[in-house]
Amino acid sequence: MWIGIDDTDSRRGGCTTYLAGVLLSKVQKLGLDLIGYPRLVRLNPNVPWKTRGNGAVSFQIGFGGGTPIKIGWMKGNDVWSYPLMNNQIDDSALVDRFIDRIKKILLNEIKSFAELSEDNTNPGLVMVSDQFDESWYWQAVHRIIQKDEIVSLLTRKDAWFREFKNGRGIIGATGSIAWTGKHDNTFELISYRKKKRWGSSRSIDENSVIKIDETSSLTFDNYDYVNHHVNIMPHSPCPVLFGIRGDKAEELASCMNDIQCESFDEWLIFASNQGTDDHLVVSSITDLESFQSVIIEGVVSKKPVTIAGGHVIFSISDEASSVDCAAYEPTKQFRNVVRGLDVGDVVKVFGGVRKEPFTVNVEKLEIKSCAMVYEKVENPVCPVCGKHMKSKGHGQGFVCKKCKTTAKKGKMKRKNRIVQKGIYEVPVCARRHLSKPLLRSERQKG
Ligand code: ATP
Repeated sequence: MWIGIDDTDSRRGGCTTYLAGVLLSKVQKLGLDLIGYPRLVRLNPNVPWKTRGNGAVSFQIGFGGGTPIKIGWMKGNDVWSYPLMNNQIDDSALVDRFIDRIKKILLNEIKSFAELSEDNTNPGLVMVSDQFDESWYWQAVHRIIQKDEIVSLLTRKDAWFREFKNGRGIIGATGSIAWTGKHDNTFELISYRKKKRWGSSRSIDENSVIKIDETSSLTFDNYDYVNHHVNIMPHSPCPVLFGIRGDKAEELASCMNDIQCESFDEWLIFASNQGTDDHLVVSSITDLESFQSVIIEGVVSKKPVTIAGGHVIFSISDEASSVDCAAYEPTKQFRNVVRGLDVGDVVKVFGGVRKEPFTVNVEKLEIKSCAMVYEKVENPVCPVCGKHMKSKGHGQGFVCKKCKTTAKKGKMKRKNRIVQKGIYEVPVCARRHLSKPLLRSERQKG
């Protein structure tokens, strides 16, 4: 049996992962097992109605086989995960006996945990015996899905679902269940604050975070060394104390023990699509659509300019079209790379397509080749009089004031380019949940 939940939190509090942990501990108490890891699945990062990172949670329950592993501690109990076995017996008939009790737990917990009074909180619950086709995950991470499309899928698949308020959460809940992570996946260990501390400022020792970052082999995005930012710690009033992300679930628990911070009890490891680049699709500039995340290639056609607020804008073109690309102020030092671009450079831009103004919000940039750029160092010397000529205006050549001899160009010199071929990414503090850090790409190449 698969359960998916989404859209239970708001900017003022709550966290769908925490609610999932509470649900899991209750479901375990019924005598059912968690199969595999609970899953924190990030969906289309450009949906306009997301609270923060468009995360949705799902998990599979049934009767486990094989040796369980401890993957958390929630509500005073260990959370055990049973491996997904190839020959897992079809336990749907057995699980059916628990269905009514599971539904009751889900509905009660949603009612007590979800921030239902918040305008933008529209929870959705989905329960279904078979995982949805993975194409639904890819759609949920790549495009905007209408709720009607999901309602008709859920009806076709005989799923049980509940919508609260406008019920939009069923979109994320369904997309999360449909994720398999077979092509690529990561893990996140999330620790939760004691309830009395929710909403107050967090206490985490920065040096201990740097230490786990240096000593663990497969974690990523723990700390931003350039901006001195502890990235594992959120700043919202939610119950999360910290989240450590990595490629190996077992490594995360030992990192957790090495973090020096306020005391906490509850924690849980999730499998996730974070850090995989799953949101990106290769596109031509002509085919760009708002709310997508894309990889486009082109030639820089307008030099970068810094506008009010410190955002840097440049344009790229291919044979058919051109588009503005933006490195916003929060991307900090990354803007220096962007400022170094010049007309003629061949680049690949990775980023989200914003509707208004229509721009690609750059997450990663590959400079494939740098154009040879020449700059004028001196006005030309008149061959008749031997004096420096004067400019006739931008792009209009030069003229000798005395004898009226003209020349097209001044003395040019090849410009020393500050940027080089290579791939560049925004700093850790500005990283999107789904963006694959270059470090992780390099590790995968081996
Ligand atoms: P957090 O990261 O704190 O969990 P959030 O950013 O996940 O919060 P939600 O509160 O879950 O934000 O809101 C996102 C909403 O968008 C949900 O209702 C979800 O069902 C919906 N949604 C997710 N993906 C899509 C999509 N591809 N198309 C349309 N709606 C979507």
